[in-house]
Amino acid sequence: MSLKFWEVKSLAEMTQEEWESLCDGCGRCCLNKLEDEDTGEVYFTNVTCKLLDIDKCSCSDYENRKVSMPDCMILSVENKAALEVMPSTCAYRLLQLGKPLPEWHPLITGRKESVSEAGISIEGKVISEEHIHYKQLPEHLINWVTTK
Ligand code: SF4
Ligand code: SF4
Repeated sequence: MSLKFWEVKSLAEMTQEEWESLCDGCGRCCLNKLEDEDTGEVYFTNVTCKLLDIDKCSCSDYENRKVSMPDCMILSVENKAALEVMPSTCAYRLLQLGKPLPEWHPLITGRKESVSEAGISIEGKVISEEHIHYKQLPEHLINWVTTK
């Protein structure tokens, strides 16, 4: 059995195409987060960035996201701070920690639907920040997405 690129290459060694293919399209990284000022712990809410197309679970302005949404954290090998607050299920986070890809990952199953089937996609479980006031964010904390 031949080894796959994510089993032999570090994140830094991957081509752009390989890097992009690691994203499972779960949408979890586009959820608003709250940080506990005392502990530094980060908690996820079920409130999405307003640029997320909730039906497609994808950014509606991916190419210009840093301009349209300055707070958007662009993932890269160098951006360690962003990697550290990625959801525990995120392929980039898992590989950074030396863990394998989960069995439901599209690169393993060959099907992107496996992300929803495993309950990992945020599809149907979230609302857009367009529909709430930011002061309501604490009411939207969730425990089904965590950084650990
Ligand atoms: S959490 Fe990771 S795998 Fe999921 S959409 Fe974001 S970058 Fe992709
Ligand atoms: S700008 Fe796009 S990629 Fe960034 S958090 Fe918002 S929806 Fe996600």
